[in-house]
Amino acid sequence: MTDPTIVDLPATDVLPYEDIDDGADHRTHLVRPSDNGITSAEDPTTGQDLVDLARLGGIVIVAACGYRWVPKRDPKRYPPCETCLDVATAVIGGRRP
Ligand SMILES: [Zn+2]
Repeated sequence: MTDPTIVDLPATDVLPYEDIDDGADHRTHLVRPSDNGITSAEDPTTGQDLVDLARLGGIVIVAACGYRWVPKRDPKRYPPCETCLDVATAVIGGRRP
């Protein structure tokens, strides 16, 4: 059970994630370290690391589309954010699934 729009993304610094607060339109966003203050290529922190830290600590993170939220839910339950997909496609230079 995989979501092809997500798993087709290369494991660079663009990783799938999470949704939105209650009452909003729930989407799975993509999290990039570069959008969250990780600017050094030597910093091993990945998008998934950021999500895990944010989930544990209740920290607000920034999605590729600019959306800010605290991860709480299972990202696999929601459709992908269209804007995040566009950003990811542009970043990796590939075609959109
Ligand atoms: Zn998004």
